[in-house]
Amino acid sequence: MRKLSIGARLTLWYLIIFAVAQLCFGVGMWLLLRRHLYHIADDTLTAQVEDLTNFLKSQKKKNLTVIKLREEASESYALEHSGDFLQIFDENGDWIFRAPTLEQIKFPPLTPAAFKGRLFHNSQIGNEPFRFITDKIYANSHAYFVQTGIPIDQLIATLSLFRRYLLMLAPLLCLAAATGGHWLSRKALSPVDALTRTARNISGNNLSNRLEKLTTGDELQRLSDTLNEMLGRIESAFLRVTQFTADASHELRTPISLIRTEAEIALRKPRGTEEYREALRHVLLEAERTSSLVEELLSLARADSGRENLCLRLLDLRSVIAETADEWHRLVHSRNLQFKQTIADYDMPVLADRRAVQQLLAILLDNAVKYTPPPGVVELLLQVRSETAVLTVRDSGIGIAEEDQSKIFERFYRVDKARSRELGGSGIGLAIAEWIVQQHRGSIAVQSSIDNGSSFIVSVPLQTNSGTVDIRAESVVPAKETQT
Ligand code: ADP
Repeated sequence: MRKLSIGARLTLWYLIIFAVAQLCFGVGMWLLLRRHLYHIADDTLTAQVEDLTNFLKSQKKKNLTVIKLREEASESYALEHSGDFLQIFDENGDWIFRAPTLEQIKFPPLTPAAFKGRLFHNSQIGNEPFRFITDKIYANSHAYFVQTGIPIDQLIATLSLFRRYLLMLAPLLCLAAATGGHWLSRKALSPVDALTRTARNISGNNLSNRLEKLTTGDELQRLSDTLNEMLGRIESAFLRVTQFTADASHELRTPISLIRTEAEIALRKPRGTEEYREALRHVLLEAERTSSLVEELLSLARADSGRENLCLRLLDLRSVIAETADEWHRLVHSRNLQFKQTIADYDMPVLADRRAVQQLLAILLDNAVKYTPPPGVVELLLQVRSETAVLTVRDSGIGIAEEDQSKIFERFYRVDKARSRELGGSGIGLAIAEWIVQQHRGSIAVQSSIDNGSSFIVSVPLQTNSGTVDIRAESVVPAKETQT
């Protein structure tokens, strides 16, 4: 079954609640009116009984017999209108007065034995409704039983008129409530319709579109703001992916076209072995660059998709860095650069992925070597500051202009594209380095100025609760220095 819309459900609920409230109100008012009208009728009857009591008491001195009392009562009540539906009996069950009307219609006489206290009740005489009171009166040491009635056709007519009005007005009020409810729900939900219409038109081609900005200050405004924020995030993620694909394709195109050109030139005419060897060496070099670029791209793609899971283990950062630095010694020397290494002589327990830390250091050292012309210095420092291990890779190279420093961690950003490419760079290294540092809950920063070299500073929190490291607050732990 098709579910009703929120608007229809709201209207329905509004209508049901209104109808129930109206029913309770109507029934309540009818009962109150009825009670009040019967109260008035009962007061009239009580007053008549009081009159009767006074009459019977007034017969005291005369000490009348039943016969005489009948005459007195007839004289007083038969003529009066109030005696039309009156009957009086004495304690022996003999009647003192019985209205001719009651006699005519054979109204049941009063039986003292059946009396159980003052009683009001309704009775139908002919087609007319009556209200009767039955009571016991004490006068002149005698008990009398009286019953008198008054017509209540006005009362019944008023009640039924009131009921008729209620029943006539109820559907009209319900109709008004349903219309009002429908209008209210339409008004309240119209922003939702607008949001739905706009949202339906947003696709991959127009992700910059936003939902209508609401200023209602309510939940709907919060919803539209939240959806717009979400669209903003989706758009920037989408742009990043598109940009990444475009940049990656562009980066891959260059080495592939170089390989192709090299091969085409080599094949254009017959050549000597040495020429072929030279061409193949170039092809191999470009192929190696391409495969390392593909490796880096894959690594970034895996990081983006959350599938590049690092295996963080408690390890001694000092030993990992020392091992990797040893491997770099020869390479740095082969480029006619001096390599300095300062590693604090303390255990540095960190939660880290060994392979990732080695990759991070390789990226930083590779950059330092690439961008430092000989005879320069590449320096590696590992210290402990507060509860953090601080790794610094410093060089005396070309340096980075201040305006570029915030951009070099972006993917594919290179200060000097041609130079970087010539040196085998692709502009991805620092983006991977930053991702690795973030995965270790650390931070990476750069300090540099043109022609004065650069320092890349990586901070990683130490696992101090292992109790294996000597931490000196805000001080640098003395270090062992090696220089080659
Ligand atoms: P690349 O593979 O091009 O080196 P990176 O992401 O590692 O890419 O670095 C981005 C850019 O930052 C480099 O192209 C270079 O311009 C600059 N850069 C990085 N490290 C250094 C450094 N030690 N000295 C000078 N410039 C650097």
